[in-house]
Amino acid sequence: MEEIRAFNPEHDEEIEQKLRPSQFDDYIGQDKVKENMQIFVEAALRRGETLDHVLLYGQPGLGKTTLSAIIAGEMGANLRVTTGPAIERPGDIAAVLNDLTEGDFLFIDEIHRLSRTVEEMLYSAMEDFVFDIIIGKGPGARSIRLELPRFTLIGATTRIGLLTAPLRDRFGVVHHLEPYSVEDLQKIVMRSASVLGVEIEPPGAEEIARRARGTPRIVNRLLKRVRDFAQVKFDGVITEEVAVSSLDRLEIDKLGLDVVDKKILRAIIDKFGGGPVGLDTLAASVDEEPGTLEDVAEPYLLQLGFIQRTPRGRIATNAAYMHFGLEISHEKTDAQISLTEAQ
Ligand code: ADP
Repeated sequence: MEEIRAFNPEHDEEIEQKLRPSQFDDYIGQDKVKENMQIFVEAALRRGETLDHVLLYGQPGLGKTTLSAIIAGEMGANLRVTTGPAIERPGDIAAVLNDLTEGDFLFIDEIHRLSRTVEEMLYSAMEDFVFDIIIGKGPGARSIRLELPRFTLIGATTRIGLLTAPLRDRFGVVHHLEPYSVEDLQKIVMRSASVLGVEIEPPGAEEIARRARGTPRIVNRLLKRVRDFAQVKFDGVITEEVAVSSLDRLEIDKLGLDVVDKKILRAIIDKFGGGPVGLDTLAASVDEEPGTLEDVAEPYLLQLGFIQRTPRGRIATNAAYMHFGLEISHEKTDAQISLTEAQ
C-alpha cells in the first residue's frame, strides 16, 4: 500500500503540509536568521507597521518558503505565493499587486528569474507603494499611477549573484540560509517521524540525517522512503540497522551522494579525464539541465571538495578519485594544480 500512496501527488501534498512547521518554535536550526526575524517581527508588531521587505537566499529545500509562511503567520497576515517565471508580463505583476490588501505578504520564489521589465516595475511598488501602468500605445499612451496598500515582499532565490543591485538594495533584510548540521537534521527527522506517526530510534534518525546533505527537504524525503522499507521489509520501527539497509538500497551513500551525483563525478573522471569540462557539456553528458546541475547537485559536491570550479570548467579533485577508490594519475594532479593556481 505504501508504494501506491507514494505515487499519489495529492496525498504527498497533504503530507508536505503536515510536515511543514507553522511557527518559529518548530522551525529547527538557522538560529541566527530565526532570532533576527523574530525580533524584526516583534518590533514591527509593536509599532503597528508592516515588516520591511525580506530577501532569503540559499540552496533549494533549506526552508525559505517555510520561514516566509511562519513570518506572515506571526504577523497575522496573508501570504500570497508566486514565482519569478510565473510573472512574465507587466500585466501579470499588475494583477498580483492589485490583489494585495494592507499588510499582506507577497512571496516571490526564484526572484532572480523575473524579467527586467517586471523587475523595474517592482521598484516603485517596493519603495513608495505606488505602481505606474501605461495605458495605450504610441503617442497617445499615458501613464496612470496606482496607490498600493503597504505590503511586505519576501523574495527567495538560490542565486543571489544573479540579482541586480537595484533590486537587491530594495530589501531591508537579507538573510542567507546555510546547510543544516546533522544534529539539527536529526531533530527534524524526529519531529517529522512523530508527525507521520512512525516509530524511530535516535540512531536511525541520525543515519538518515547524515545522508541528507544538509537539507530538510531531502531529510523528509529520505524519512518517507525509509518508512516504506521499515513497514514492508521490517517491523515498522526505524532503527539504525533499518535506516542503513534502506538507504543503501536507495543507493544513497554514507556521504549522501545519490545516483545523479555519482553519475556527474564519474562523467568528469571517466569521460573527461578529470576535467576541466564546461557546465553545458557536463550536463548534456549526464542528461540533466545545466540549471539543475548547478543549483541542486553542484553545491554539495563543491562543499565536499569533490569538484572545483575553474575558469575553464569543472574538475574532479583528488578527494573525488579517492571516494571511488581510484588512482590519481600524476599527470592529472599536475594539470589540476596549475589550473587551480591560474585562477
Ligand atoms: P525552500 O523554499 O528553501 O526550497 P522549503 O521551505 O520548501 O524550502 O522547505 C522544504 C521542506 O523542508 C518543508 O516542507 C519543511 O517540511 C522542511 N523544512 C524546511 N526548513 C525546516 C526547518 N527549519 N525545520 C523543520 N523543517 C523544515
